[in-house]
Amino acid sequence: MSSIRTTTQRTALLRELQRLGRRMIFGTLSETVRTCGQPSCRCHHGGPKHGPHLQISYRGDAGKTTGAHVPAAIGDRVRDGVEAWQQFQVVARELADLNRDAAWAVHGKATGRR
Ligand SMILES: [Zn+2]
Repeated sequence: MSSIRTTTQRTALLRELQRLGRRMIFGTLSETVRTCGQPSCRCHHGGPKHGPHLQISYRGDAGKTTGAHVPAAIGDRVRDGVEAWQQFQVVARELADLNRDAAWAVHGKATGRR
């Protein structure tokens, strides 16, 4: 009875992971304001600086933190992707917990029969 419910839950979580997996983007977002390369620009004379510019940083293959400027045109998509990655981890954890419970449940049944 409870194993059927667990199977349904696991299927739903797997579907959720697949949905999130299509959108997720790994990285941490930050916003920065900058001065530009033009000494005569307002940003060098007490005026407002340029930005905010969206920046994404993440650990690369060599374990080194790297980053990239996020063009405004894809800002919303990248924000959504980073949110999806965080949600993916929450759902993955939930699924992993259910899988652990299922493993123990199988053991319980096996020993219960004897
Ligand atoms: Zn400037």
